[in-house]
Amino acid sequence: MKRIAIIGGGPVGLACASWILEKTPDTPLDLYDRLPESNDAITQGDSRGIAVSQGSHLLLKNIGAWPANSPTIHKIHVSHRGHFGRAIVRREELGQDALGHIVRYADIHLSIRQALQRISKNCPQFHWHFNQKIDELDKTQLADVIIHAEGGLFKQQEWQEIYRDYDQSAIVGWVRTDKTNQHLAWERFTEEGPLALLPNHKGHEYLNLVWCGHPPTTQARLALGPDDFLRELQTSFGTRAGRFLEAGELRSYDLGLNARKEIVKGREVWIGNAAQTMHPVAGQGLNLGLRDAHTLAEAISGLGINRNITEALEHYQTLRKTDRNTTIATTDFLARIFTSSSKPVICARGIALSSLQLLVPVKQSLTRQMMFGQR
Ligand SMILES: Cc1cc2nc3c(=O)[nH]c(=O)nc-3n(C[C@H](O)[C@H](O)[C@H](O)COP(=O)(O)OP(=O)(O)OC[C@H]3O[C@@H](n4cnc5c(N)ncnc54)[C@H](O)[C@@H]3O)c2cc1C
Repeated sequence: MKRIAIIGGGPVGLACASWILEKTPDTPLDLYDRLPESNDAITQGDSRGIAVSQGSHLLLKNIGAWPANSPTIHKIHVSHRGHFGRAIVRREELGQDALGHIVRYADIHLSIRQALQRISKNCPQFHWHFNQKIDELDKTQLADVIIHAEGGLFKQQEWQEIYRDYDQSAIVGWVRTDKTNQHLAWERFTEEGPLALLPNHKGHEYLNLVWCGHPPTTQARLALGPDDFLRELQTSFGTRAGRFLEAGELRSYDLGLNARKEIVKGREVWIGNAAQTMHPVAGQGLNLGLRDAHTLAEAISGLGINRNITEALEHYQTLRKTDRNTTIATTDFLARIFTSSSKPVICARGIALSSLQLLVPVKQSLTRQMMFGQR
């Protein structure tokens, strides 16, 4: 049987290993994880809130990898600062229990790691290599099939064929308000980029903040004192979500699009952020990465690794084409359209948001794409 290596023990690499081993426990699989065996580094790691779709929730729940204490979204309010047009999406319109869930990166990373720890107990040919950073040169020696799941953040990765710098960075953290916003997500577009307020695990009066702006503005905002920061945030967002009283755990990320055209080359395959890093405007990066991982696990297990791995990888690339292209294009469109200052574009945006509110089937199909991807 061919040996498979996964490079990168982030959420996507771990999920891929879990799904492969769950389907075919005797697969010879090596996982190269940069982190030590202890889970402490993950628990104390990145606390940024991530919107996880109902589709990803169901995939992870099936392998017992769903983190406890992840608030759900029942209603999303989309608006554009200073312009007409708004859209509201409710879970009832989609016939779903939730439109999405908010989890902390650290929590979902840990829960998938713990699921793999459980699943791999009965997998004699699985080897988990801790404290391993695999360099370019080592890769070819590793195994017969290499799955790249090294992930990464925009501007910290090598440039790929599809690249766009939006000249934006995001402040993430949490804010406390004087109003409860239970199960409510707010997405407000501004000329500088989107400003999202999402449910937070700390309680209903807390919200996760993702505030996009030009990089110098982001840095200037981070340098403000607490009162000035809250005042500026209130001016940008308005008062719909209540009065902002406190903010915490603030830090910034550069945003952009960096994606590979081909996700299979010979016996190498790329999944998750190693295949595509996107703007978080539509909350799709991890969701798309988990769909990559799940489809790849099915392609590898389903076709039989002994028979023809090249065929399995080509099949995987074909299966992922539509979902990848649609999600990347939709995210890129949303990241650019709302920052345009051209008058016709502004007008079209307002009409589009208002129409979206009225054209229920269009709204449903767009929301379904974001929740479940193209199948
Ligand atoms: C501000 C912000 C908000 C976001 N919000 C959302 C959201 O709401 N919804 C959503 O779906 N997505 C969101 N994302 C995107 C999401 O965080 C990523 O898509 C997701 O983390 C990708 O997971 P991954 O496992 O592919 O990569 P990563 O999370 O980057 O993990 C990769 C792992 O591989 C390891 N590694 C790297 N190189 C090597 C090597 N050479 N050898 C061994 N190991 C290596 C790394 O140490 C890391 O542990 C957001 C991103 C940002 C920046």
